[in-house]
Amino acid sequence: MAVTEPAPAPPLAAHEGILRRQSLRESAARTYARSLPIVPVRARGLTIEGADGRRYLDCLSGAGTLALGHNHPVVLEAIKKVLDSGAPLHVLDLATPVKDAFVTELFSTLPREFADNARVQFCGPAGTDAVEAAFKLVRAATGRSGLLAFAGAYHGMTAGALAASGGAEDVRVTRLPFPQEYRCPFGIGGEAGARTAAHWTENLLDDPKSGTPAPAGMILEPVQGEGGVNPAPDGWMRRMREITETRSIPLIADEVQTGVGRTGAFWAVEHSGIVPDVMVLSKAIGGSLPLAVIVYRSELDTWQPGAHAGTFRGNQLAMAAGTATLAYVRENGLAERAGVLGGRMLASLRSLAADHPCVGDVRGRGLMIGVEIVDPEARPQGTGTEPPPDPVLAAAVQQECLSRGLIVELGGRYSTVVRLLPPLTLTDEQATAVVDRLADALAAAERSPHRRLPTGSLR
Ligand code: PMP
Repeated sequence: MAVTEPAPAPPLAAHEGILRRQSLRESAARTYARSLPIVPVRARGLTIEGADGRRYLDCLSGAGTLALGHNHPVVLEAIKKVLDSGAPLHVLDLATPVKDAFVTELFSTLPREFADNARVQFCGPAGTDAVEAAFKLVRAATGRSGLLAFAGAYHGMTAGALAASGGAEDVRVTRLPFPQEYRCPFGIGGEAGARTAAHWTENLLDDPKSGTPAPAGMILEPVQGEGGVNPAPDGWMRRMREITETRSIPLIADEVQTGVGRTGAFWAVEHSGIVPDVMVLSKAIGGSLPLAVIVYRSELDTWQPGAHAGTFRGNQLAMAAGTATLAYVRENGLAERAGVLGGRMLASLRSLAADHPCVGDVRGRGLMIGVEIVDPEARPQGTGTEPPPDPVLAAAVQQECLSRGLIVELGGRYSTVVRLLPPLTLTDEQATAVVDRLADALAAAERSPHRRLPTGSLR
């Protein structure tokens, strides 16, 4: 009797093999790789090319890192120059001409009033390490230990930064309401919502029975990024500055994601004109390579030598790439450009929302844009008047974007905010292509039957 051999499995394409090995070998905690099964092999500007030959418009941009997009010529040139010079690549925190140039360029971009009396501390190369450094600094300077942080915040994954992020529990962190317009914690939104949020904060600090001891500092994001693209109103930012200043509480602006032109100003604190006591900077300042610093008012510089050490605080290539990036953004007015183009994209997306009931809200500042996906047919839950978020539909939108060659991230409390963080070098045509692809993806996701979560299953 003839035995029929099973047909051999077709050979996996190279990129499929890579993806398969990744899923077998890498951690269950991996993140972006789960929803973006692509294998980038080449990239330039907004575009990434996968090993399968497909091209994608990258609106994730290294989670907001790539101010100039991928492999910008000025960045590559700066890196090559260091390599060709024979300069050491690893120098701990020693002084070098490359570092000197970086600090000079960085300080020239910072608000004058702040930079004129500031110090910089080079941190381990992730934003989260700089957040830890900021907390240590203000604790040493004030002798206090508590912190004020905001609901929905994201500051990183190391213990202290995580504790200050929304959703964490930590006895030393007092959580305050963030004045978001959509899903306002007070159900009123607008200026009244922001005023109430500020009043709440002030009352908490002044009420001797609030259970909130004088804190070492307040940390805030001028636009909450991972929390779902929630811009803080300028008036509220100024109130936070007044409230902290009059009570001698150092104000820490976490500009890890909002910095380097992203929101339409070089630094997002410039929108409100406030001068914080500490700025936490990372992502774009390294020109696509890892770099993180805190810059702070000199009077706070009371911590001891070695108070915040770390082996990798002297990445020369990142400093050179960062210097080139900062200078390019400054010289080419890319912050202003981000403001104008972002405004145009927000307007197009808002007009799109009229045809797509699943778009609950479109918001952002500059090229930090969020589109919140909701279930328009479901009744509002709990205290909200807005339709509930729809994580399943949002995931479908992300996949439909990917299949149309558009890479977007999901953020927000329930991963229902489609986030756009394109490079500041985005052209008008590219901006139109991004919006068009997102519009197609929304229509396709709405058409596709997607599993709805049972009511009340949202965390
Ligand atoms: N702060 C903010 C505002 C961030 O957006 C992030 C990262 N998304 C961090 C801190 C942490 O930075 P990193 O991932 O480099 O540790």
